[in-house]
Amino acid sequence: MRVIVLGAGVVGTTAAWYLTEAGHEVTVIERQPHAGLETSFANGGQISVCHAEPWANPGVLPHILKWIGHESSPLLWRMRPDLAQWAWGLRFIRECTPSRTRANIIAVLKLALHSRDCLQALRRQLGLEYDHLERGILHVYTDRREFEHAIPQAALMREYGCERVVKTAEACLQIEPSLRHSRLPLVGGTYTAEDESGDACIFTQELAARCAARGVIYRYGTVVEALHAEGDQISGVRLTSGEVLTADRYVVALGSYTPLLLKPLGFSLPIYPGKGYSATLKLRDDAVAPTVSVTDDGHKLVFSRLGQRLRIAGTAEFNGYNTELNPVRCEAIIKRTQVLFPHATTDEPPEFWAGLRPVTPGNVPYVGQTRLSNLFIDSGHGTLGWTMACGSGQLLADLVSGHAPAVDPTPYQP
Ligand SMILES: Cc1cc2nc3c(=O)[nH]c(=O)nc-3n(C[C@H](O)[C@H](O)[C@H](O)COP(=O)(O)OP(=O)(O)OC[C@H]3O[C@@H](n4cnc5c(N)ncnc54)[C@H](O)[C@@H]3O)c2cc1C
Repeated sequence: MRVIVLGAGVVGTTAAWYLTEAGHEVTVIERQPHAGLETSFANGGQISVCHAEPWANPGVLPHILKWIGHESSPLLWRMRPDLAQWAWGLRFIRECTPSRTRANIIAVLKLALHSRDCLQALRRQLGLEYDHLERGILHVYTDRREFEHAIPQAALMREYGCERVVKTAEACLQIEPSLRHSRLPLVGGTYTAEDESGDACIFTQELAARCAARGVIYRYGTVVEALHAEGDQISGVRLTSGEVLTADRYVVALGSYTPLLLKPLGFSLPIYPGKGYSATLKLRDDAVAPTVSVTDDGHKLVFSRLGQRLRIAGTAEFNGYNTELNPVRCEAIIKRTQVLFPHATTDEPPEFWAGLRPVTPGNVPYVGQTRLSNLFIDSGHGTLGWTMACGSGQLLADLVSGHAPAVDPTPYQP
């Protein structure tokens, strides 16, 4: 079949790979000059199955109220006259009940575990290199209440196959000795040895090159304007140049922009941009630099070593489609880095970046067929798009091909 994939972020690129592997003729449309240049560009680099707990959970609402109006807070809700934002916010609150949180954790865990296996198999098959480290992920806590909250979450994850193990503060320091220099004492942590880290942008571009070598056609610098529907089918993709492209199947993987393209067709997908920041710093000295990827849960920050760079990423700001850098939030990231890893990086200015996570209220992505029979969605991967990309791509390719999928697709049905 001829398949058009819209978007060459990490999600569209992995979908293109598994679709070409399944024998389809694939064309990818991307507005940027290369793959992976928007939200997949400078993320936290974690393959973190252990991070399956969504932002929407029973513990978060009091925090959000406390954080409103604080420019440097980890999660910032900006009041905007935007109906989509408020509708999304109400659905987010609905996902904060204990039963919804549990269901969302399980759905994310199942896809993320499958995805980690797919990524490892792909790496072996293609010999991909992307500054990856297989050293696990260590969640650390400097606040006892946050640590106590993490203990049952870790138990739930173990129940569903993610070996996230609770550790004492001393055990955390043995796992990642560079934390001995932290200016605040740790109260404890959890460690997931099977999780990984690496540069998502390099991965995406390497995989896009392998796709192209296998015959996938890339149309970079090409902007999609609209999808045309006739009856219960998509009949073509209109580009801003006026050209209309046709195929047998269409896959929308436009990240945060997916709901905008689908709205004129009557779809109202609750995907909203959750802006996040990252800072990339040069490492000073191997002896004081982390090699295990670290998550500072209380501050919603992750620290990943990418070769001789330290990537610090996280925080969330709900402020529409806006990628401007806010200096207060940038500074908060650097301040926290100086607390946890005071000697790890050089004094060279950090490279700051902001990207728009395509967030669904419960952080469960949409992967599957829509009510238009040849239209598929692979979007809404939120905080874990790199972690769930390979598994989503494989699931999508199975659904497009009519094969029995390796994971139950029900929770991800658009
Ligand atoms: C600060 C931060 C830290 C993060 N850390 C992690 C992490 O550690 N681990 C993890 O798993 N996830 C992490 N994420 C989330 C992850 O980066 C995203 O979920 C993921 O990149 C989304 O990929 P995507 O392909 O869906 O979207 P994108 O990468 O945004 O891809 C969508 C593509 O569609 C293209 N496009 C959009 N509209 C059009 C159009 N009209 N025409 C043509 N092309 C178009 C865009 O140019 C873009 O390339 C983080 C995100 C942020 C912001």
